[in-house]
Amino acid sequence: MSDSDPPVTPDHPQWTDWRWQMQNRIHSAEALEKWTDPTPDEREAIEKTSEVFRWNITPYYAALMDATDPSCPIRRQVVPTMDELGDDLVDELDPLDETGHSPAKNLVHNYEDRVAFCVTAECAIYCRYCLRKRMVGDADFFMRSDEHQAAIDYIAEHDEIRDVLLTGGDPLTFNEDNLEWLLGRLRAIDHVELIRFGSRMPVKLPYRITDDLCDLLQRYHPIWVNTHFNHPTELTEDAAAAIDRLKQAGVPVGNQTVLLDGINDDPETMKALNESLVRMRVRPYYLYQAQVIGGTGHLRTPIETGMHIMRQLRGRTSGFAIPTYVLDTPHGKVPLNRSYVKGRAGPHVLMETYDGTLWAEPNPLPDDLGVPLQLPRVDLPDGVDTIPIRREAGPGQAAAQSSEAASVPASLRARAGESSG
Ligand code: SF4
Repeated sequence: MSDSDPPVTPDHPQWTDWRWQMQNRIHSAEALEKWTDPTPDEREAIEKTSEVFRWNITPYYAALMDATDPSCPIRRQVVPTMDELGDDLVDELDPLDETGHSPAKNLVHNYEDRVAFCVTAECAIYCRYCLRKRMVGDADFFMRSDEHQAAIDYIAEHDEIRDVLLTGGDPLTFNEDNLEWLLGRLRAIDHVELIRFGSRMPVKLPYRITDDLCDLLQRYHPIWVNTHFNHPTELTEDAAAAIDRLKQAGVPVGNQTVLLDGINDDPETMKALNESLVRMRVRPYYLYQAQVIGGTGHLRTPIETGMHIMRQLRGRTSGFAIPTYVLDTPHGKVPLNRSYVKGRAGPHVLMETYDGTLWAEPNPLPDDLGVPLQLPRVDLPDGVDTIPIRREAGPGQAAAQSSEAASVPASLRARAGESSG
């Protein structure tokens, strides 16, 4: 940018051009200063996390941040803090074992009749709690066209696959030519009934939802889009206009929220978010328990908190404004309600997956949890599947483990010991 260029503000003549927004993304503390007053912790983290997880923010999303409040729910989703580099409960970066379920590069075949096709590692913004931190933003996971073709060939050879989720990264970072190439090849496969997009573009860069994109999508119906609003502040007029363009093109839009500590983990925020989504004709679909991924402990919540929020929504708002609260596991998604959740065993929550497998989710309770909901205390069965936890964890986590370690089977404690190095 030369000195004569207009400043990057909402008054810029190209503000609503999605390509301009992508080219002018913020990726330094100096650029962030135009939007907020970064704290010393944020400045240090921007520098030190650069080797761990990429960092970018679109000017559009930066304009939603509170300039002076580091606890701003928008800011905490996207600005790194040093918590990301502190001790976490786990070192795990692939908690769903997606790598183990990938028959071709970036193609995850976990459920029999559907696949998640991570067509790119690029995102407009890198959310600090991202499920796919292991790959998103990493050059090794960008795909060449022959790699895309290999994944499409796998889908064509497996006639049990009826549902293809295009995800990433964010598939809508692709231009229309690349999307047309992908959609044309997938639609040529008779057994692919449904194509879904998982995209955060309506949230972080709604100008990407152009008329050209909508024209393209409606040529390949049935196309569904699931987006990812986490907080009512994200529901701007521009976001609503983007959703409206998708709806005009006949695209059903659902929303997947991630439950995040201090961002949306209270009934009032969740009710306001989901009621606003419904007003925009977006169906709240899932509320996700944040995955245990190393470096995200400061954003995760106890499962009891999510179950309490769900209890507070039922009966107090329209039924279709209530998402299903779920945890993703290597054995599929588990609805987090008392039909599936068996109880708490120290730092784990024991649950049963759809096929009857028992799963122990590492999820320590802080000493000061302020929600009234309590799970029954249970013992973990020997050999139950889980993610190994470290002996040394962050504040509150170590205490939870040591005081309740007696309920953890020896086999698990041994695995935890192996992972602690
Ligand atoms: S938009 Fe989705 S894939 Fe991209 S960083 Fe955020 S959570 Fe991860």
